[in-house]
Amino acid sequence: MDDTAFTARHWQPRDDGRLECTLCPHRCRLADGQRGFCFVRLRRGERLVLDTYGRSSGFCVDPIEKKPLYHFLPGTPVLSFGTAGCNLSCRFCQNWELSKARATDILAAAATPAAIAAAAAALDCRSVAFTYNDPVIFLEYAVDVAAACRERGVKTVAVTAGYVEDAGRRELCAAMDAANVDLKAFSEDFYRRLTGGRLGAVLETLEYLARETAVWLEVTTLLIPGENDGEAEITALAAWIREHLGPAVPLHFTAFHPDFRLLDRPPTPPATLHRARAIAQREGLAHVYTGNLIDAEGGSSWCARCGALLIERLGYRLGRWGLDPTGRCLACGEALPGRFEAAPGDWGERRLPVRIGAR
Ligand code: SF4
Repeated sequence: MDDTAFTARHWQPRDDGRLECTLCPHRCRLADGQRGFCFVRLRRGERLVLDTYGRSSGFCVDPIEKKPLYHFLPGTPVLSFGTAGCNLSCRFCQNWELSKARATDILAAAATPAAIAAAAAALDCRSVAFTYNDPVIFLEYAVDVAAACRERGVKTVAVTAGYVEDAGRRELCAAMDAANVDLKAFSEDFYRRLTGGRLGAVLETLEYLARETAVWLEVTTLLIPGENDGEAEITALAAWIREHLGPAVPLHFTAFHPDFRLLDRPPTPPATLHRARAIAQREGLAHVYTGNLIDAEGGSSWCARCGALLIERLGYRLGRWGLDPTGRCLACGEALPGRFEAAPGDWGERRLPVRIGAR
């Protein structure tokens, strides 16, 4: 038995002798030696361990726009990393090399929370993102990295599917400054058939973030032709966001490309993204974006009151800037919801792989 493995939180013994992981709605019940659905949380004797604690699949400095976060420190670099495994099994996964990896296959770098925070500060990153795979399943590592980052004034960002139970949700969100939540569709049928999860749990995470935390929230929906791009579904999704999260929460519609086990669907046509954006705007959402394509209008931020251009984007590159130092429209004074500094960053579109920690 490996006694050095990190003891996880969020589990309890059951009457039948198994240990139940209570972190996510799968609620895996594990016999000794058994791994959960996510593969990285497993039972060792009378405890549950997380075998990706302190292990990363690699680090990269990205533009914050790539997460995507468009209203959170625009133009700044974010130190991004992930581990291995996932608690959903999306047939269309765009990161399946990591999410479906057996932990030891790909985890090259061993990096402590302090080393990651120090590297972020040294690289002038304004934030660290838990991304590439879902931080829910490496929660204890993400929370410790976030604490080390806070000591250095570095912000933290979760890119997550939000498939987590209440206690884990509270712990993860308390550690974060911003989140982009993947709302994969607006039907239980889609979630059941294509992700192995439940929509209801994701909606609970979204409502919790929007109503009970100070975490800056943006939402992303990947549109898959013939699966979740119907007018009625997009209308219902946008109306739900307006009603339950508020009309100012940014919504990103991004383009699918055939991947993993969903190779028989075509890439999302640009017209589908434009149509979805128009529907969501009609439903009253103020900041709706198109992603994974070059679209000067759908990729830029516009004033909800006077229509002025506030942040011009071409891809991940910023252009004209129409905000005053307090984040208000230069033309009419309306505040753009989000977290802004006096001036935008100038990181641009660069992607810079970095090495942190021991191999
Ligand atoms: S986090 Fe992993 S082990 Fe825990 S319930 Fe979810 S899938 Fe199962």
